[in-house]
Amino acid sequence: MLKLAVSACLLGEQIRYDKTAQHDRFITDKLGKYALFVPFCPEHLAFGTPRETIRIVLEEERKKVITVFSKNDVTQAMNEAVEHELHKIQSEEICGIILKSKSPSCGLGSAKYYTEKMSEGKKDGLFAFTCKAHFVDFPIEEEARLIDPCLRENFVMQLFAYEDALQLQKNIKTMQELVSFHTAYKFLLQSKHEANYRILGKIVANHEKKSLQEITQTYLTLFKKTIVYKGSIGKTVNVLQHMVGFFKKELTSSEKEELHMQIEEFRDEIIPLIAVMGTIEFLAKKYNTTYLLGQKFLNPYPKDLSLRSMIQEGK
Ligand code: SF4
Repeated sequence: MLKLAVSACLLGEQIRYDKTAQHDRFITDKLGKYALFVPFCPEHLAFGTPRETIRIVLEEERKKVITVFSKNDVTQAMNEAVEHELHKIQSEEICGIILKSKSPSCGLGSAKYYTEKMSEGKKDGLFAFTCKAHFVDFPIEEEARLIDPCLRENFVMQLFAYEDALQLQKNIKTMQELVSFHTAYKFLLQSKHEANYRILGKIVANHEKKSLQEITQTYLTLFKKTIVYKGSIGKTVNVLQHMVGFFKKELTSSEKEELHMQIEEFRDEIIPLIAVMGTIEFLAKKYNTTYLLGQKFLNPYPKDLSLRSMIQEGK
């Protein structure tokens, strides 16, 4: 089970300034089948609900939190609440954070900043800023960006890969387990960052005979950095061709032709990634190609999340 820290209002809690929620059904109904949630709400903690709205005001580079109507400076109460909520999520073994967009607390690059007189553009809200500083190379997104099918697919893939990395870190006992982990992630890592994939291979080879603990630590640090990279159609096509190359000797000429045609149609955005993956999986089963069937890239998350069934996914 994944454990995700999520803005409480996205989980349906009526905790916004006006006692409403901003329930996000993808998070609760789809991800919720595979995730436990750690809710947070720094504003509720600081000011209760309902409450006056706040805004971030920049004063000589200093961020002040001011209530919009009564013009009170509530910076200290807000900073204390942010610290409290940060400690709460740090004490849990989370593998991702989902923030509510446009909020002065939770917005990820979408919180409005003001000077005394005018809007100063959009940046990270106070809690989002603190999360980014403490959770480096970590899956963090805001719900508004997850409407984009490509970003959503990338983010969910990253969540499941990060959780796998956490489990490996906790439970690893032999070098073979690290080798198996890297083998299973081969094509997924290639689809993210080819050069990093090769470095990770060298780390696993462990020519310097480092201890299992040291090598695992080095490996997972780069692994987490690598899965943050966004895939692209070009990189995905490259990986699909590698996969086909892996069992091309077994395939009949018409199967090869069909697969190449599907890959081209995926490249031209005529068919979604799931169609090509379905054919590869079918043929890998037919020829009992266990190496391919064990690839995370084939099934990086539960199928019923159906994240690869739109043309735009996998871009
Ligand atoms: S502070 Fe964050 S969690 Fe709380 S209501 Fe605002 S956006 Fe939602």
